[in-house]
Amino acid sequence: MRSISIFGATGSIGESTFDLIVRAGGADAFRTVALTGSANIARLAEMARTLRAEIAVTADPARLSELREALAGSGVQAAAGPDAIADAADRPADWTMSAIVGAAGLVPGLRALRHGRTLALANKESLVTAGALLLGTARQHGATILPVDSEHSAVFQALTGEDTAAVERVIITASGGPFRDWPLERLKAATVAEAKAHPNWSMGNRISIDSASMFNKALELIETREYFGFDPDMIEAVVHPQSIVHALVGFRDGAVMAHLGPPDMRHAIGFALNFPDRAALPVARLDLAKLGSLTFQAPDPERFPALRLSREVMRIRGLSGAAFNAAKEIALDHFMEGRLGFLDMAGLVEATLARLSSETGLGNAATTLEDVLGMDHLARVRANELAKTLQ
Ligand code: NDP
Ligand code: MG
Repeated sequence: MRSISIFGATGSIGESTFDLIVRAGGADAFRTVALTGSANIARLAEMARTLRAEIAVTADPARLSELREALAGSGVQAAAGPDAIADAADRPADWTMSAIVGAAGLVPGLRALRHGRTLALANKESLVTAGALLLGTARQHGATILPVDSEHSAVFQALTGEDTAAVERVIITASGGPFRDWPLERLKAATVAEAKAHPNWSMGNRISIDSASMFNKALELIETREYFGFDPDMIEAVVHPQSIVHALVGFRDGAVMAHLGPPDMRHAIGFALNFPDRAALPVARLDLAKLGSLTFQAPDPERFPALRLSREVMRIRGLSGAAFNAAKEIALDHFMEGRLGFLDMAGLVEATLARLSSETGLGNAATTLEDVLGMDHLARVRANELAKTLQ
């Protein structure tokens, strides 16, 4: 029986993963090792009972007794706190879903890779902050990382059986989010509720707002660079409002392979769960005649400065991804709490990168886990300081 763990089980990706596992037979088909969550204790306990998990872990140490109570009599162990989440990743599972949101997903992902098995990676922040470290750890332990972000799963699929040396360019698509056609002036006053309302995908709050600002696409450009190793000049993003084409790979003979599918994360998750097989998945089938047309446009660099900033990070590498992601997370916190305007998020990230670049240099530092966590911390401190000057 295959063993699985889901980190971030109670989130949007975690729920979709759980759904696929349950449909594929649940506890009769898989041995569930660990499920983790944070605030949503009731749901975490319910999932752990359903899958008869060995252990359920909440990131919040203050919620341990609540989790214990919710699991009473179930035989599922309970634990709490970031260390307990990392320890849960030390329990070997054949297939581990990394779907914690933010930089908190890095350490559990690294620990899971040490078993030399498969890590399905939705947590894009770990590739952005520590791509070299993550891929190096996988190589060292003979583990496999499968991309779960829809664009990267699409690139992965378009590359299957191809010679990567023949690749000329990789294009990932962006829906353009809810603000695709908003004028600059109106964007300045965009609210959290408006930014959360993604037109095509149903996702967690933070990634939905990152989609509206294109910080999500910025992270994904960096993710493409880190995971596939292509030169930054070969990687681009194009706005495609229908979210049907997820990515395209262009080859030197002029052919372009596109990956199409409905905007449903269960495709990319299911692909990673069943890889290298393709199993039937409960996703809608495309009706091209009904869709009628698929459109594409260049992203507007003025309204989406995050894309420009990501180019710098792709070029510099080193610790710039850790600084970029941490500054972006702080900028997002300030926006969500009403202390920063929508367009000021990019301004804050840019100012933080400039400050850190002159203070420590971002490019040539060795990327050990300590380096990455140190930069993550420092960038948060600097971003919070600089945010005060923008308010
Ligand atoms: P959600 O916000 O919906 O879920 C996040 C999960 O992480 C929840 O289980 C949450 O617990 C848990 N969590 C929150 N904070 C912490 C913490 N500090 N430590 C440990 N666990 C924590 O996010 P999504 O599912 O949308 O996204 C998860 C990851 O997947 C992100 O990296 C995102 O960028 C990526 N991704 C998501 C896509 C999507 O469609 N949603 C598409 C592609 C990538 P709780 O809810 O119990 O508080
Ligand atoms: Mg994506």
